[in-house]
Amino acid sequence: MARYTGPVCRLCRREGEKLFLKGERCYSDKCSISVRNYAPGQHGQGRKKNSEYATQFRMKQKAKRFYGVLENQFHMYFVEAERQQGVTGENLLRLLERRLDNIVYRLGFASSRKEARQLVLHNHFSVNGKKVNIPSYLVKVGDVIAIKENSLDSEKIKAVLEANGSRPVPAWLERNADAKAGKVINFPNREDIDTPVEESLIVELYSK
Ligand code: SF4
Repeated sequence: MARYTGPVCRLCRREGEKLFLKGERCYSDKCSISVRNYAPGQHGQGRKKNSEYATQFRMKQKAKRFYGVLENQFHMYFVEAERQQGVTGENLLRLLERRLDNIVYRLGFASSRKEARQLVLHNHFSVNGKKVNIPSYLVKVGDVIAIKENSLDSEKIKAVLEANGSRPVPAWLERNADAKAGKVINFPNREDIDTPVEESLIVELYSK
């Protein structure tokens, strides 16, 4: 399963804004964007290109990085979004939001999507009572996502719940803090998704 293994703060600096990939550190003054708010590399502080293509390309890169998805998989989501009825850009974001690692993060069971991905891979979650360790698993309406019984004693899980238990949950999800579980009430509309991307630019890029 391919994944990006380089320095993640570099991705935020490349996009020129916080993508919140490192959990608590992102809210502290140790955040690299606060310290060095310019693109990485030799020409990072040079003149920026603002062509139409560059703007669309950067928007696609930002969305990919936000959700921790690599190019091929992102393109597959786009193909599926185009096939579905409705607005392609919104369909694309909805598919990305339905990923299990995103749901785990949204429910406050992880500090970042990266951490959520790791926890899912390490078998800490179930969907409708069955073990699921695939971060890209797409949840459906009515699915119940729970921390597995034997994971509740894990120090890591305890620390994550302590740090994120009070984080607000989007209206399309429901968290049952006592049961350490959450449910998908419905799929999100565009206004329910706070991801700071202009999805229409991504659609324009792929439509060229
Ligand atoms: Fe991005 Fe978080 Fe690193 Fe700041 S600390 S640059 S928000 S990943």
